[in-house]
Amino acid sequence: MPDLAIHGGVPVRDRMLPYGRQWVDEDDIRAVVEVLRSDWLTTGPAVATFEEAFAAQVGAKYAVAVSSGTAALHAAAFAAGIGPDDEVIVPAMTFAASANCVRYQGGTVVFVDVRPDTLNLDVAHAESAVTPRTRAIVTVDYTGQPSDLDELRALADRHHLILIEDGCHALGATYRGRPVGSLADLTAFSLHPVKHITTGEGGLITTNDRGMATRLRQFRNHGITTAPAQREAAGSWFYEMTELGYNYRLTDFQCALGHAQLQKLPAWVARRREIAARYSAAFAGMRELETPPVLPGRESSWHLYVIRLNLECLRVGRTEVFRALRAENIGVNVHYIPVPWHPYYQRLTYKRGQWPVSEGAYERLISLPVFPAMGEQDIDDVISACTKVIRAYRK
Ligand SMILES: *Cc1c(COP(=O)(O)O)cnc(C)c1O
Repeated sequence: MPDLAIHGGVPVRDRMLPYGRQWVDEDDIRAVVEVLRSDWLTTGPAVATFEEAFAAQVGAKYAVAVSSGTAALHAAAFAAGIGPDDEVIVPAMTFAASANCVRYQGGTVVFVDVRPDTLNLDVAHAESAVTPRTRAIVTVDYTGQPSDLDELRALADRHHLILIEDGCHALGATYRGRPVGSLADLTAFSLHPVKHITTGEGGLITTNDRGMATRLRQFRNHGITTAPAQREAAGSWFYEMTELGYNYRLTDFQCALGHAQLQKLPAWVARRREIAARYSAAFAGMRELETPPVLPGRESSWHLYVIRLNLECLRVGRTEVFRALRAENIGVNVHYIPVPWHPYYQRLTYKRGQWPVSEGAYERLISLPVFPAMGEQDIDDVISACTKVIRAYRK
């Protein structure tokens, strides 16, 4: 058996393979440079062009571009009317920003556990967490697999709640044949470099509701009303700030990059699916780990490929497996530490132990590299390194 790199053996590869990484080509660079030479660096025509193309891509009526996925969630929480008297249901297994958007608006986060198979929000647990103060649900499409959106829609309708989808993992995913971005009242996307397409930093919110779209546009621009007819009538200098908004605008050169990247989305998502299928086939017979299940009627867009270790079959814990894979130069990661475990939420007195599925899964999770620019050798390296490490540590 080859020696593990962590014990001084030869690593599977010479250079670290990151878990995610952008793909920027000459065509993207040209699109950005063109805007840099134009009259508009921000609030110009590239913004609407990108928004319209994005809305069309995900089958939504409106898309509003903002400066990050976090800003997109904040804008969604604002448009949903979340305030200090409101409770919002959020899964415990997600990135902190899914919950933080509720706190920005002064609302109370009610963390709910996830289903054991997909690690998406458990609808039955969500329903039992509803109180007269509940205003909205933030559901997260963990790793790119859509949540139980029909059931969540029905739950939201029964209790008059707004359904916000944190789709930051799920650009390009479909649920019962319909694209993520067209399904919830508001869907937030991120354009961070590890996500499906990138603008450096950036985000979007999609909605089919015109009133929501207007509120989102106002929110990203200081809360200033953007009805041009109104401005025209009162003289061109006149504007009114009617809500407390922010400067969450995305620049024109970023939107040009986003638009150029969007053309490649279908091919990139297809490539992510191929990589995921290669991993799942390679690990199918290994009892020391579980591969991620995909439910019928869902096509994941595979932002992440997360394995779960069967710790009872191993002589070591997740930390040792993680370190051993890193030593082999496989840039594994962990998504996520349960959000209520973070010191900020601990200070708000959430007690550990209330989300056994999320908390139990956390101890076993490892994210393997998946991004469209990975080559065949990279995929083989990940599979060899996992096989090597698991064999060395199996009971
Ligand atoms: C990436 C991500 C965000 C935040 O997006 P940024 O663009 O980094 O602000 C929010 N929620 C989830 C689930 C994410 O993965």
